[in-house]
Amino acid sequence: MKRRDFIQKLAIGSVAAGSVLAAPAVHAKKTIKWKMVTTWPKNFPGLGTGANKLAELITQMSGGRLKVKVYGAGELVPAFEVFDAVSRGTAQMGHGSAYYWKGKIEEAQFFSTVPFGLNGQEMTSWLHHGGGMALWNQVYEPFGVIPAAAGNTGVQMAGWFNKQINSLEDLKGLKMRIPGLGGEAFKRAGGTPVNLPGGELFTALKTGALDATEWVGPYNDLAFGFYKAAKYYYYPGWHEPGTTLEATINKKAFEALPKDLQAIVMNACSVVNQDMLLEYTARNNAALDTLLNKHKVDMRKLPDDVLNKLRHLSEEVVLELAAKDKRSQKIYDSFSKFRKQVVDWHKISEQAYYNVRTKV
Ligand code: CA
Repeated sequence: MKRRDFIQKLAIGSVAAGSVLAAPAVHAKKTIKWKMVTTWPKNFPGLGTGANKLAELITQMSGGRLKVKVYGAGELVPAFEVFDAVSRGTAQMGHGSAYYWKGKIEEAQFFSTVPFGLNGQEMTSWLHHGGGMALWNQVYEPFGVIPAAAGNTGVQMAGWFNKQINSLEDLKGLKMRIPGLGGEAFKRAGGTPVNLPGGELFTALKTGALDATEWVGPYNDLAFGFYKAAKYYYYPGWHEPGTTLEATINKKAFEALPKDLQAIVMNACSVVNQDMLLEYTARNNAALDTLLNKHKVDMRKLPDDVLNKLRHLSEEVVLELAAKDKRSQKIYDSFSKFRKQVVDWHKISEQAYYNVRTKV
């Protein structure tokens, strides 16, 4: 009995002490709930799961003070209305990629990817340490939206083709799903670019409605089963050499957060930005091995003269975008200066190393 009394006293004591301590803590720990709308199907490998990871990180790092709930494309708003939803405050956060808003903000494409532009590592480097982020903030500012880099696919694949590409002639009249600035360059090379959502690509390729499609890289392409619908898998992904995924944050909602939660949101974006590139690297390696060795995919490199032509046409397309207005020109100048410098540096570092490593 004595022992039980003692235990009860202890329990009461600890509850009492706990209550005294807990009172102000409960007050400070008011839970804030945010919605994150995304351009991806719910839980889509890499892209959708990256958005999930971002939401989980913010929730965990804040000790549950800021809870973020993820909505897949179409659950709260359709994929291509994510930016507007964040701008209006329907959702406090979004996850997508800046080139989706080109109809509204053409120069936003610089912050996703540029054909023959920067790879994933270089892109983040330009954004975080080369002046890119300040320019991106200026572009989204009038919409009350704060951008953050929140994922990267790395260099993509050129795509799946049912016709061989041996010369520039073979691009003529080729019906291919290829979006963005790369799609425009492809059009100028004589191709017919088509934009279709990911979910429709397999059937379009299988039935011959499309001659070719690009998507992402081995990891995502294996999941869609494109090897069952196309004969040839071409590389490299000249049109998307390191696509940045973005988090968009409603400015008012962000400014209403205490400083520590603001830091958590921005740092969680940085973590996911890096982590997604690492995940793609690891999963692409494994998926490429499966495609080549298990499914016996016929993988080929686009001919040099085709790539050279596409590079010239891409430069033309990008220069036209830059000439649109002063701000676009300013973004292009910053981007192209960084590209020139990083190409010079990487020529004698990463590239020189890759060349010797391959020969070993
Ligand atoms: Ca793509």
